[in-house]
Parts: sequence; C-alpha cells; structure tokens
Amino acid sequence: MINIVLFGKPGAGKGTQAEFLKEKYKLIHISTGDVFRFNLKNNTELGKQVRVYMDAGDLVPDELTTKMLIDEVNKNLDSNGILFDGYPRTISQAQALDEYLETINSAVTATVALEADDEILIQRLLERGKTSGRPDDQDEDKIRNRYQEYNEKTAPLMDFYKSQGKFYAVNGIGTIEEITERLSLVIDELEVKVKG
Ligand code: AMP
Repeated sequence: MINIVLFGKPGAGKGTQAEFLKEKYKLIHISTGDVFRFNLKNNTELGKQVRVYMDAGDLVPDELTTKMLIDEVNKNLDSNGILFDGYPRTISQAQALDEYLETINSAVTATVALEADDEILIQRLLERGKTSGRPDDQDEDKIRNRYQEYNEKTAPLMDFYKSQGKFYAVNGIGTIEEITERLSLVIDELEVKVKG
C-alpha cells in the first residue's frame, strides 16, 4: 500500500487536491473532517459527541478520532493505498496511526505538506464559508482558533515525520493544476521507491 498523509493548515487545499490524487493514483481518500460532518448532518451518536468541538473549531479528542479513523481504514484493507486528509493532527494520533498500520503490515509511506501563508489561507476560508455552509468557515474567531489548534498541536508533526525521513513539502499557492502537478512529482518518486 502507498499511504500518504496530506498535511497542511485549514484551507491549504488538502481536500481539493485529494479529489484529483485519488483518481490519479487509485487511492482511497479518507477525510476525517468529512466523516465527522457526515455524522453531524445525520445526527448520529458520533455526530452528537463531536458537535461541540467542531462548532468551536477545536480538535475532537484523540481517542474518538482515532477510533473512527481505524474503522474507516478497516473498510478499505484491499486498496492500493490511502490518502489521509486531516489525520493525524496530533503526535498521539500519528503514533496511533503508526501502531495500527504496523498491525496490518503497512506504514505511512510519506507526508506531503501544502505550504501557504496564514493570511492568504484565512481569506480563502472566509470566501469558502460563503458557499460551503460550514459554520467553522464563517467566523474569523473560529478560523483563528483552528489555526491556534494547528500551531500548537499539529505543527509538531512536521518534526515527527522529518525524523522518520518521510516529510516532503510543496508550494501550495498556484492554480489547482499546478499544485496537483507538484504533488504528483513527489508521489511518482515515492511509487518508484515503493514498487522498485
Ligand atoms: P477539516 O475538514 O479537516 O478542516 O476538519 C474540520 C473539523 O473536524 C476540525 O476543526 C476538527 O474539529 C475536526 N477534525 C477533523 N479531523 C480531526 C482530527 N484528525 N483530529 C481532531 N479533530 C479533527
């Protein structure tokens, strides 16, 4: 399996790029944010548990998130690989992912970050909020809280993956096609390494 963690701040374009990459590389796309939103919309037990965190732009507790993620991966064990979008977001989640993948004889192949300046991304999110219907995209305070969560809890993952020699970064500013192209250059190299 080729397992890729798409990494980046809120609004960096992870979801948009995942839509292209999953087709191109025949990967399963798992977005923890999308799964949570589906549960919110359908008012499931999980939806009720995560609403308060998501509405505030806080991270959902690790235990709940990891359990949900593992359930999603388990549905796709016969796939070419997985594109993780929005997970892991804490060191504890990254450790849980490593441990879990080991139990299925797999591993994170690489983490690829989409890099962009905060102020550009905040404006992008506010724009997206006009049409996405996402309450967490419509309020600047909530957006800033999501950035604070990112800086405190998620940014340390860069060093976590760097120390494993698995961290790659591309410039996340440009047209959708240009960014897909930059990501593809990295993923093509990884495929060569994995498949030999
Ligand atoms: P996203 O669509 O990836 O921006 O996620 C939207 C919201 O879902 C986040 O602000 C969190 O409240 C929650 N969420 C998504 N993924 C995670 C995760 N890996 N850990 C904790 N909370 C998450």
